[in-house]
Amino acid sequence: MNVQHENQKLWEHLEQLAEQAEGLAAESFRSVERIAERNQWKVIEAFQRHNVSDFHFTGSTGYGYNDRGREILDLVYADVFGAEAALVRPHFVSGTHTISCALFGVLRPGEELLYVTGRPYDTLHKVIGKPGDRTGSLQDWGVIYAEVPLQEDGSLDWQLIEQAITDKTKVIGIQRSRGYDWRASFTVSEIENMVKRVKALKPDVLVFVDNCYGEFTELLEPTQVGVDLMAGSLIKNPGGGLAETGGYIAGTASAVEAAAYRLTAPGIGGEVGAMLGTLRLMFQGLFLAPHLVGQAIKGSVLAAALFEELGFVTKPRWNEPRTDLIQAVRFGQAEHLIAFVQGIQQAAAVDSHVVPEPWDMPGYENAVIMAAGTFIQGGSLELSADAPIREPYIAYMQGGLTYAHAKYGILTALFRLVESGLIVIKPYIT
Ligand SMILES: *Cc1c(COP(=O)(O)O)cnc(C)c1O
Repeated sequence: MNVQHENQKLWEHLEQLAEQAEGLAAESFRSVERIAERNQWKVIEAFQRHNVSDFHFTGSTGYGYNDRGREILDLVYADVFGAEAALVRPHFVSGTHTISCALFGVLRPGEELLYVTGRPYDTLHKVIGKPGDRTGSLQDWGVIYAEVPLQEDGSLDWQLIEQAITDKTKVIGIQRSRGYDWRASFTVSEIENMVKRVKALKPDVLVFVDNCYGEFTELLEPTQVGVDLMAGSLIKNPGGGLAETGGYIAGTASAVEAAAYRLTAPGIGGEVGAMLGTLRLMFQGLFLAPHLVGQAIKGSVLAAALFEELGFVTKPRWNEPRTDLIQAVRFGQAEHLIAFVQGIQQAAAVDSHVVPEPWDMPGYENAVIMAAGTFIQGGSLELSADAPIREPYIAYMQGGLTYAHAKYGILTALFRLVESGLIVIKPYIT
C-alpha cells in the first residue's frame, strides 16, 4: 500500500473513533447546549433592558467623555454578571493587566492579599512580586501577600486558611480555572461555599475571583453568588471571538471604581477613555459568547473522551462537570506534548504553515509551547493549546469558535501522534 492510501485509511479510522466518542458524550453535549441556550437568552435580555441601539456602536475619540456606548456596555456586563457595576475596556492590554488593576485598586500598603486556591497563574507572580523588587509590584508597594496551597486532592485547606486569615487580610484571592496546574477548576457553587466560609471567618474581607476562562460555562457567575470583585480577558470567553483586545472587571460599585482609578487616574476613572472603533465588536462578541463557549466546551469534552479511550489521563474527564474551557491531557513525554500542540496549529485556518516551538515567553517561568493559529493574536476562545515544557508534560487545550474546528483540530493532532509512531492505536488493522 502506498503512503497516501495508508494515511487516508488512518484518517478515516480516527474519524470513526471521534464519532464513537461523540456517541459516548451525547448526554454531556446536550447539557452544554442547554447552558449555552439559557446564557444566550440571559445576554439578550440584558441588551433589551438597556435598550442597546445601533448608535451605541459608534465609538468616541479624544477624551471619550459621555461615550454612551461605553456606558451601556458597562451596564450590560454588570447586568449579565449580576454585579453592581462593571468596567469593560479595550485599554486593558491583557487578562493580567485587568487583574492587576483590580488588585491594586482595592489593596493598600500593610493590607494583605491571601490566595486560598494555591499558587496563582504564572503571569501573576510578577504582579505580586517581592518586597523591594523595585518593579512596582504589589509587594514592592508594601502590600502583604500570602497563599495557602491546595491539598493533595485539589481541595482547599480550611485548617490552614483559618490560621492564615488575620486582621491584615483585606482581599481573599480565588482562581476559578486550573490555569497550568493539574487540578480541578472550581465551580461557581464551590466558590459560593468559599465566600460563605471566608466571610464567616472575617465579614469585612473582600473576595476577588480570577474568572479567566470561566464566563458562560455555567448558568451563574461568581458575582451572582457573593463574590465582591472579578476580572477576565476579552480575548477569552466574553469577547466571543470578536473583541480585538481588552478586559473586564465586575463587582461592587466601590471596588470597580477603585479599579477604574487604577486603570486611568484617581478622580478620572471610567468617565474617560475613547472607545474608538471597538464597541460594536465588544457588544456583538458578548452576544455570541454563550454560543461560542458552548462550541468550545463540546470540543474539550470530545478531546477528553477520545484521549481517555486511547489510555491517556485527562482533566476534567469527559463526563465531569465543567466550569471553564480548559482541557488538560497528560502526555508524560515532551515529544508527545510537542507533537500534539503542533498538530493543533496545523489544523488552524490562520498560520497553519507555522510550526510552533517552545520559547521563553515573558511572564512565564518555564519554556512554553503554544498553538495559536488565531484571528486575534493569542485569542484563546479560538482553538489553541499551551503547555509549559515541564513534567509530567501536560497539554492544556481550549477553545474553538466552531465545534467542527475543535473536532478536526483534535483529529489532526491525533493523526500526527499516530503517524509519527509516538502512539499506537490498538484496534487499528491496516
Ligand atoms: C489567561 C489567564 C490569566 C492572564 O491572562 P493574560 O491575558 O494571559 O494576561 C490569568 N489567570 C488565568 C486563570 C488565566 O487563564
